[in-house]
Amino acid sequence: MKITKIETHVCHARMRNWIFVKVLTNQDGLFGWGEATLEWHTRAVVGAIEDLAQLVVGEDPTRPEHLWQMMFRQHFWHGGGIVRATAIAGIDIALWDILGKVAGLPCSKLFGGPVRDYVRTYCHLGGGKMEDFYETAVDEARRFGDLARQAVADGFTAFKSMAVPPTMPIEGLKPIKAAEAAVKAMRDAVGESIDIMVDCHARPSPAMGLKFAKALEPYGLYFFEEPCWPESIDGLAAINAAVTTPIATGERGTNIAYFRDLFNARGCEICQLDLTHCGGFTEARRIAALAEAHRIALAPHNPQGPVSTAASLEFGFSQPSYIICETVHADVPWRQDVVQEGFTVEKQGRIVRPNTKPGLGITINEAEVKKHPFQQEVLQRVFYKDGSVGDW
Ligand SMILES: [Mg+2]
Repeated sequence: MKITKIETHVCHARMRNWIFVKVLTNQDGLFGWGEATLEWHTRAVVGAIEDLAQLVVGEDPTRPEHLWQMMFRQHFWHGGGIVRATAIAGIDIALWDILGKVAGLPCSKLFGGPVRDYVRTYCHLGGGKMEDFYETAVDEARRFGDLARQAVADGFTAFKSMAVPPTMPIEGLKPIKAAEAAVKAMRDAVGESIDIMVDCHARPSPAMGLKFAKALEPYGLYFFEEPCWPESIDGLAAINAAVTTPIATGERGTNIAYFRDLFNARGCEICQLDLTHCGGFTEARRIAALAEAHRIALAPHNPQGPVSTAASLEFGFSQPSYIICETVHADVPWRQDVVQEGFTVEKQGRIVRPNTKPGLGITINEAEVKKHPFQQEVLQRVFYKDGSVGDW
């Protein structure tokens, strides 16, 4: 069996262009799907996949680890940068999809699962609608409460919010009080049985991240995400040590060496590796083993398209320390038209029962994808009051 071609199918979904990767073989009707979505880098990733094709076309697709080694090492420049790691991930996920189809088994079974009866999921406030999740101002505390109520009405038992505003490296009490009011509004709206998460988007400096973490500690957050830059491993470790709220990070980690340093410093309690950015299933399974040795939980980052979600769920059914899957359902109204999924979601509680179909268990509707050709992603930038550059 040989790989004959690698195609990319770009699907514009407002904030992101979903990059679906199709690996074709010389066996009739046998192909695999992966995803390599990287917002604002769509052309670069599509080009990187084209470059990688040179290494793997003509090779046996049922050897994902061997091909992963080729893709990571054989262009001299190791594949740990964000563009190349994402491109490798898209191809790697598709290879495992093919292997599952050849074996007649879901990917989770290839990895030794299922290890649980269902995977719990959480949503973004507003279901991932850009305006609700990313653009609700933190001083609109009441709006946070309303959106939280809506998430619970939609069946979720856990949701994530961006209740921490962008701040300069040092600011006073005002943003802290605004974040506290937003989180209080959500907690008051949904009570104690619902899990609330706050994502700082790595906007704060370590000093500000610590202030926010301390202020929000009484609200019993399920986790507190990216309280400072991923590069500031010492800052993450200091914040994680200073509060009982579990710190989550890892969505921007692209290789095992980063996670080794993060875990060694105890920079988090929850590892948010992204299957589409950290080299696919092949590297993610190694990172998960490393996390296991540190007793660090897994909650993969997954705000992308439906292939990423299917991959994250297959991973969840194979990893004992996986606690919850990030999902978006209202980013674009036609999301479900693009894909047919092998798993089932129970509306009450939004839990997912395992896929029983081979591989990822998904079918991508290519005609529907074609209706949404590439468009430049909506620009998201932050400038502080004085005009200096901030983090989105
Ligand atoms: Mg995040």
